[in-house]
Amino acid sequence: MSSWRESIRNVEPYVPGEQPRGASVIKLNTNENPYPPAPGVTRALREMDPDLFRKYPDPSAGMLVDALAERYGLGRDQIFVGVGSDDVLGMAFLTFFNSGRPVLFPDVTYSFYPVWAKLFGIPYETPALDENFCVNPEDYKRDNGGIVLANPNAPTGIRLPLDQVEGIIKANRDSVVIVDEAYIDFGGESAVALIPRYDNLLVVQTFSKSRSMAGMRIGYAMGQRDLVRALHNVKYSYNSYTMNLPSIILGTEAVRDEAYFQETTRRIIRTREEARRRLGDLGFTCTDSCTNFLFISHRRADAARLFEALRADGIYVRYFPALRTKDYLRVTIGTEEEMEIFYKFLASYLDRI
Ligand SMILES: *Cc1c(COP(=O)(O)O)cnc(C)c1O
Repeated sequence: MSSWRESIRNVEPYVPGEQPRGASVIKLNTNENPYPPAPGVTRALREMDPDLFRKYPDPSAGMLVDALAERYGLGRDQIFVGVGSDDVLGMAFLTFFNSGRPVLFPDVTYSFYPVWAKLFGIPYETPALDENFCVNPEDYKRDNGGIVLANPNAPTGIRLPLDQVEGIIKANRDSVVIVDEAYIDFGGESAVALIPRYDNLLVVQTFSKSRSMAGMRIGYAMGQRDLVRALHNVKYSYNSYTMNLPSIILGTEAVRDEAYFQETTRRIIRTREEARRRLGDLGFTCTDSCTNFLFISHRRADAARLFEALRADGIYVRYFPALRTKDYLRVTIGTEEEMEIFYKFLASYLDRI
C-alpha cells in the first residue's frame, strides 16, 4: 500500500437526491420549486453582458447583501451569503463549533449535519425526536458546544413553535444556536425577529426552495454583527470569491420581486393542503408539514417498494432507509398537474397490491 493512503482525510459524503435527466420525469424528490424564478431574474439573465465575467466578482456580494438587508430589516453587516445554504451551514459549523464539547441536533433531521461534524472533527449527540417526530426542547438545555435545528424540520416537515425555539436559544447563551430555515417561507414563524435580542442566534435561509433557484446556489445567514464577522473571517481564510457574478445579480433580482415570491409560495401551500386531503383519501398518513413537501406513509404499502414502483414509472420521490424513517416517503409539492399524475399512480398502485 502506498503511504499516501494513510494520510488521506477519509470521509463518508452526504448523498444528495437523484437528478435524473430527461424532461418527462416527475421530480418530487429534492424539494425544488415547480415554478420558474421571478420574471426579473429571466430579464436580467438575458441582459447580462459576458464581458463582466472578465473581472472577479465583488467578494462581499454587496448588491445581494443590500437587497437581503432591506428585505429583512437588518444591517448589511448582519448578513453572510454563500454558495447555497449548504456552504453557509458548513462555514458555520467550521466557525462556531470549535469548543470540543458535543454539538446537539435531532436524530431525525437534515442528514448533512453529521457529515460536516465528522469532516471537521466536531463531536455531536443526537437527542431523539419523540414518537410524533417532535423536538423536546428540554433535550437542548444541557451542556453543549452548539445547537442546530432545522425549523421546520426535514424530512418530517414539522415546525417547532417560535416560543420553544426562543427557550432553547435563551437557555444556551454560551453556545451558538443555528436555526436552519430552508422551508420557513412555507409555514412556521421565523427566528429572524429574535436576532436583536440574542447574540448567539444564527438564522440560515436559502434561495433553493421558496425562491426557485436551487441551480444558482445561493444561501444566507443572518445574525448579530459579531457572529457574522466571525463567519466572514473564516470564509476569507478559505475562499474570497464564493459568490459568482450571475448569482449575485440574479439573486438580487429574485429578492426584489416580493409579489411574485408571495404568489408562488401561496400556490405551493395551497397545493400542499390539497395533497394532504387527496393522500388522506387514499389512506396515507401525513405528518403536519408546513413545508413544500409531505412525509407520508401507508399501512398497506411498503415504502421502499412504493418508492421503486414510482421510480419505474418516472415519478421520483425521496426514501430514507434509516430505522425511524423507513416507513415513509418524502414527496415534494409539484405543480397541480404533476400532483394529479402522482395521485393517479397511487390509486392504481393501491388497487394492485
Ligand atoms: C435544502 C436544504 C438545505 C440546503 O439548501 P441549499 O440548496 O444548499 O441552499 C439546507 N437545509 C435543509 C434542511 C434543506 O432541506
